[in-house]
Amino acid sequence: MKKIFGVIGDPIAHSMSPAMHNDLFDLYGIDAVYFPFHVSKRNLLDAVKGLKALGVSGFNVTIPHKTDIIAHLDKVDPLAKAIGAVNTVKNENGLLVGYNTDGPGFVKGLEYMAADLGSRSALIIGAGGASRAIYFSMAQAGIERIDLYNRTPGKADELVSSCPFKVESNVIGREAAEKSLAEYQLIIQTTSIGMVPDTESLPLSPENITQSAIVSDIIYNPLQTKFLKEASRKGAAIQNGVGMFVFQGALAFEIWTGIFPDVERMEGNVLRNLGG
Ligand code: NAP
Repeated sequence: MKKIFGVIGDPIAHSMSPAMHNDLFDLYGIDAVYFPFHVSKRNLLDAVKGLKALGVSGFNVTIPHKTDIIAHLDKVDPLAKAIGAVNTVKNENGLLVGYNTDGPGFVKGLEYMAADLGSRSALIIGAGGASRAIYFSMAQAGIERIDLYNRTPGKADELVSSCPFKVESNVIGREAAEKSLAEYQLIIQTTSIGMVPDTESLPLSPENITQSAIVSDIIYNPLQTKFLKEASRKGAAIQNGVGMFVFQGALAFEIWTGIFPDVERMEGNVLRNLGG
């Protein structure tokens, strides 16, 4: 019987996940289909019960449900529990099990750019939901030093103190972050600053970025934020948010099917979707 997968969120019409996963089901000859499901906050519990009752094989979870979904699942993987967010659910013999592939997906995308991540020191800009998933996953992956700068320092303090993995961290202010950019080999921009339509904004001055840094911005709309353009001008290696999106999808696909898919093909699919 055809297997059903999907993504729940609000809004959901512009999700790139259905095209990406349906293409993979075709590629690997898997008799399955992936739908976007528009689910508002007040309908989340009913939607989850419905997906379970219908025997849906798995689904992704996006804004605004990544945290609230946890209360409605039968089991949650330890990393997702620590992060406090689930973006992938698998139906395991009638039980809904939640995972987080956002953070591990980001790390896997970064590993494609640099093999020796552990020994590098990192600065993460931002302390929202995406930052939390990335910080915890980088700490779990063994990156020794991860400093954090966020507009609201209290949120960065909370993020650092709730991480269950051992990692050296300082929460720093904007001025200190700008001054010390040259000390970091990894600079990761996780705020929404620079996203369409506000494409001329910067989260901080990129003046002191050096060519030895890898600079990643998890925004993919535009494909190159002003921050990435400035980093590229300084000679740094840059990575946009398509990598994180593709690898979170690849890890979800692997959880559902056991196959780690062709990420280059997925990237092509996403770039076509974005018109890039
Ligand atoms: P979030 O939880 O709302 O966090 C937003 C972050 O941006 C916070 O650190 C916030 O700082 C900061 N921020 C927002 N506006 C600001 C401003 N005007 N000045 C300074 N800081 C500001 O959002 P999120 O879910 O983490 O998502 C953040 C970005 O990542 C979005 O652009 C989203 O599209 C992108 N994203 C990409 C992927 C991917 O697969 N590539 C996945 C998830 C998210 P405060 O704490 O001070 O408010």
